[in-house]
Amino acid sequence: KITVGVLALQGGVVEHISLLQKAAPYISSPDTSKSDFDFDFIQVRTKNELAACDALIIPGGESTTMSIVAQRLGLLDPLRDFVKVQGKPVWGTCAGLVMLAEEASATKKGGQELVGGLDVRVLRNRYGTQIQSFVADLRLPFLGETDTTPFRGVFIRAPVVEEIISPSAEAVTPGDGKKEPVEVMGVYRKPSEGGEDDDIVAVRQRNVFGTSFHPELTSDIRIHVWWLKQVLDAVGEQKTGQGAGVQV
Ligand code: GLN
Repeated sequence: KITVGVLALQGGVVEHISLLQKAAPYISSPDTSKSDFDFDFIQVRTKNELAACDALIIPGGESTTMSIVAQRLGLLDPLRDFVKVQGKPVWGTCAGLVMLAEEASATKKGGQELVGGLDVRVLRNRYGTQIQSFVADLRLPFLGETDTTPFRGVFIRAPVVEEIISPSAEAVTPGDGKKEPVEVMGVYRKPSEGGEDDDIVAVRQRNVFGTSFHPELTSDIRIHVWWLKQVLDAVGEQKTGQGAGVQV
């Protein structure tokens, strides 16, 4: 059984769970029978629920609020441990990407407590306010070179990755302590501007994945399927790393 949690303090929780449920039947592994990796999708509001998870989604919403609630519930440090020490797969969408950034450029006053894990600085609300929300076709090569169907990216007060930053000297890294680089997984090319002005809207660094947009607000399960496959691989690796005899 693989338990995948969605942080349920605020934001688009049920939408992610519903898309995960739709994606799960598409995950298959050639050398295990299906029952070996049945998924359980749960909402996470407590440390114990987090501890039960093999992987986590931090949904969209409002990252300052999410961060304050996480702090009050004593979840910030357990989340940091989950991402950076245990190195479990985590995906943040929109506000979730902000939470997973090491740095965020605050648009208004003050900073906010972040979970971190991605060596990036995000610029919050890159495209303006709620009414400047938009949908744009994205080409996401990680979905497969043969899959040329664009992905409808839903951008709502979306952040973008403004800069890839160097890891701080005291950065904690899971496992072997090897720091892996940030990979750009997707860009949004604004119609009227040149290629130089691409905005980075999807990134991955080791176990941490982030998107500026909201796949959970579409009915397109492709990214959820892709991510669940990554989760399956990571869980497999962790179990083999721990030696034989551990049931998945
Ligand atoms: N603008 C929000 C933030 O900075 C994110 C918006 C969203 O998740 N749709 O937290």
